[in-house]
Amino acid sequence: MSFDVAKFMENVKAKNPGEPEFHQAVEEVVLTLADYINANPKYADNKILERMVEPERVVMFRVPWVDDKGEIQVNRGYRVQMNSAIGPYKGGLRFHPSVTLGTLKFLAFEQVFKNSLTTLPMGGGKGGADFDGVGKSDNEVMRFCQSFMTELYRHIGPNLDVPAGDIGVGAREVAYMFGQYKRIANEFTGVLTGKGRSFGGSLIRPEATGYGVIYFAQAMLATKGDSLEGKTVVNSGGGNVGTFLIEKVNQLGGKVVTVGDPYGYVYDPDGIKGEKLEFLKPLWTVYRRPIKDFADKFGLEYREGRKPWEVPCDIACPTATQNELNEEDAKTLIKNGCKCIAEGSNMSSTKGAVDAILASKILYSPGKASNAGGVAVSGLEMSQNSMRYNWTSEEVDAKLQQIMSDIHETCREYGQEGDYCNYVKGANIGGFVKVADAMIAQGIV
Ligand code: NDP
Repeated sequence: MSFDVAKFMENVKAKNPGEPEFHQAVEEVVLTLADYINANPKYADNKILERMVEPERVVMFRVPWVDDKGEIQVNRGYRVQMNSAIGPYKGGLRFHPSVTLGTLKFLAFEQVFKNSLTTLPMGGGKGGADFDGVGKSDNEVMRFCQSFMTELYRHIGPNLDVPAGDIGVGAREVAYMFGQYKRIANEFTGVLTGKGRSFGGSLIRPEATGYGVIYFAQAMLATKGDSLEGKTVVNSGGGNVGTFLIEKVNQLGGKVVTVGDPYGYVYDPDGIKGEKLEFLKPLWTVYRRPIKDFADKFGLEYREGRKPWEVPCDIACPTATQNELNEEDAKTLIKNGCKCIAEGSNMSSTKGAVDAILASKILYSPGKASNAGGVAVSGLEMSQNSMRYNWTSEEVDAKLQQIMSDIHETCREYGQEGDYCNYVKGANIGGFVKVADAMIAQGIV
């Protein structure tokens, strides 16, 4: 039985209407897998892709809470448990007004491949709510998190599903959710990752995603005999991933000249470092303040309503959200001499952008490969919790570097085409094989 991409996508679209991001994520994967599946017919015969696009379970629930004025607010919560073939469901929680079921299904689907690439035993899932943390007091955030966990707790567990943070969910939100889980379940277990240090969190977890993106970029550059030293990097997000990515670029001798949010970006030709970076780190993740505050504080140029991809650079790192880099942006980057794009956000680039980047043959890593450091260290947090033991920063960082290097090698194993490495193809096939083989071994479940 040969695999027909057009027919497959027609079915996916018909069964999942109104979920364009999910369609986009699935299509990218199946297009790059088609030849491999046709060469290995067991995957088509066992309907592996048909099974992989169907979540094992989705829960959707009401999240009522009371704001500081005493008014009742109602949000919608979700958990998408996509695939548990190689381990408990694992993936972040996103709190953002843009969250829909379709967004979380795309993220959960990507997560399955990413988690497999890390080599750790983690299945894929994702969840969240359409909650907007901007302008909310600490008590409001706590009440929301408690209400969210009051339903979610019955669907998760250390051997079942282990959520973490994502957009809008940082250390504070994870801590409030952990507290409520512990209170209801009456047990202290590693049911969330990204926890505070004093209650089971791993060193290097906050840094892991941003650091990992740069370790991956470093590995890509090394294939060309190049490094980060002296490079100019353009970055978009000012959250968890973006700020620690800036820190790692600085440590490796490069400079990051931009940081943004949905309303514009700040341009700093000298590079964001020292006191400036320390001010930036909590600006969004703790205080939920706009990036313009950063420009105002240090007298930097703020470019309202524009995107950082117009700034000439050697390396570009999208670290904000999905589809933040479109075809025109990609062409501008390439025209201006960009040699490497390493994605920090999930599905950072539109299909048009990915096609333009692949055609240019510059170095390019999709988020599911280069941002896997976050979930990898979450996996290491689970291991430490199980052992009731903590590794040092150096130990965790060394393991993170090794994992990013292994993911890079896997991408090359499946993505090398002569002199060029197609990391999109490499990540998709490399992530797929382990999950698919486990699914076949476990029978039709
Ligand atoms: P944060 O909430 O810490 O930061 C997100 C940043 O991006 C904020 O500055 C936010 O500003 C900005 N942003 C959000 N939406 C948009 C938009 N539509 N346009 C421009 N900027 C936007 O999230 P993270 O840093 O944790 O996550 C960033 C990306 O990295 C996401 O795609 C996430 O899925 C991915 N990722 C995160 C991991 C992690 O460990 N945290 C792991 C792997 C991937 P504002 O909210 O004002 O819109």
